[in-house]
Amino acid sequence: MSFSTATEARATFEAFGIPLPTDGDLVSRSPIDGQEMGRVGASDAASLEAVLSRAEAAFRIWRNVPPPRRGELVRLFGDELRANKDALGRLVTLEAGKILPEGLGEVQEMVDICDFAVGLSRQLYGLTIATERPDHRMMETWHPLGVVGVISAFNFPVAVWAWNACLALVCGDSVVWKPSEKTPLTAYAVGALFARAAAKFGDAPEGLVEIVQGGRGVGEALADDPRIALVSATGSTRMGRELGPRVAARFGRTLLELGGNNGMIVCPSADLDLAERAIAFAAVGTAGQRCTSLRRLFVHDSVYDTLVPRLRAIWAQIPVGNPLDAGTLVGPLIDGESFAAMRRALDEAAMHGTVQGGEHLHADEHPDAWYARPALVEMSEQSDIVLRETFAPILYVMRYSDLDDAIARHNASAHGLSSSIFTTDLREAERFMSAAGSDCGIVNVNIGPSGAEIGGAFGGEKETGGGRESGSDSWRAYMRRATNTINYGRDLPLAQGIDFQIGKAEG
Ligand code: NAD
Repeated sequence: MSFSTATEARATFEAFGIPLPTDGDLVSRSPIDGQEMGRVGASDAASLEAVLSRAEAAFRIWRNVPPPRRGELVRLFGDELRANKDALGRLVTLEAGKILPEGLGEVQEMVDICDFAVGLSRQLYGLTIATERPDHRMMETWHPLGVVGVISAFNFPVAVWAWNACLALVCGDSVVWKPSEKTPLTAYAVGALFARAAAKFGDAPEGLVEIVQGGRGVGEALADDPRIALVSATGSTRMGRELGPRVAARFGRTLLELGGNNGMIVCPSADLDLAERAIAFAAVGTAGQRCTSLRRLFVHDSVYDTLVPRLRAIWAQIPVGNPLDAGTLVGPLIDGESFAAMRRALDEAAMHGTVQGGEHLHADEHPDAWYARPALVEMSEQSDIVLRETFAPILYVMRYSDLDDAIARHNASAHGLSSSIFTTDLREAERFMSAAGSDCGIVNVNIGPSGAEIGGAFGGEKETGGGRESGSDSWRAYMRRATNTINYGRDLPLAQGIDFQIGKAEG
């Protein structure tokens, strides 16, 4: 029988032990061949209402469960993910189009954040702070926040949700997830795996993790609902610009993980063998559809004519094709709209530079899929199109001669997600990481801008939205802080030495 993504999707659901959903108006199409793989029901106003009241009730129970016990649920969920890694990784590839090692890597990232969250469940700590008053103690207590709404993008259909949900759960929150309308099946499968972990756990409240399906309208409903304490939204800057003010209007909290237009500077002393591998992975990996994809490369004059011809050769022969096939390094774009945006960007770039690549590939074999040869564009200047995020494999290459000038051009982007420098000169590396260096949330030396580990805080500045999630102390976003001052003395001294003696005043 010939290859069919629908058959492949059915096989992954057989491995999960649940039927592939085929009813409903939200269609899942594989970018591999453009064919329908399954369907889910989109959430309507009534089902949203039911979800939110269940999630709110679940929060009231869950916030009182001791955090290490909450961690036990996340540990069991991690076990489900380990047991189902192959099938879920394959489903990520089928639905998002990333190559299988990256699909599996995405599930590994979920397992990693589960482990992190389990440890965190015993480390939710606050400060004890020196007080100016005798016989007093001051401290901070961190409490569960409420219902956390998670809106996710198509390109990391499951890992980014797990970053949020695993931390939110150990912090004592309930979670309502709206996945991308382009990747409903992976979310559906993850929901089933979580339900299995919850059943093993025993007394997880109903409604602790809910999934709502649909497009922008469902996201807007989450943004507007005052029962959602925090909306953690991942997607384009356009989406964040629309969603942020809606949540702010009701004084809700947001955690925004938006677009990126990430740069790298290659200095005269760079190890070019390392640089070329890092550039290729960061620029064409995931078909250029990572928020951290490398899009702008600044190469020093002294190494430009060595490095760039090497990159041109790599770009010309990089294997583009079915992401399930071993040997493929670049899969399809998510849809025809993405390919059209890539072509428009290349046509505009051609006015200021030399374009290599960008052709539509495998159109005969898969007329409803969008495979593109990654493009490398040598630019004479950082024109408007270079400063826009086009979510496709386009690398703009520019020359520089002075590092401070390169850093200034690097920072000229409206986004501030990820950045990197290749150098073996300590001064250059430290300058790039200094206050006067890269203005991004992620600043790397001798590795590319993409492919972060879960242990660090992930996120970026400026139009990337300012949010931080995953590791380090990102958990604080999912909790509320109370400052407690306790008087264990027999007097009532006031702060700032204020004298306020009742009965002392002359009457
Ligand atoms: P998108 O903005 O089109 O959609 C993202 C999500 O937001 C989807 O679930 C969508 O239904 C929802 N949405 C869209 N408009 C909305 C609105 N007005 N109100 C509420 N919800 C809304 O993004 P996409 O095409 O799925 O993903 C690609 C984009 O996401 C790129 O810009 C990429 O850089 C960004 N991204 C950022 C990160 C990060 O961590 N910073 C990670 C992954 C992707």
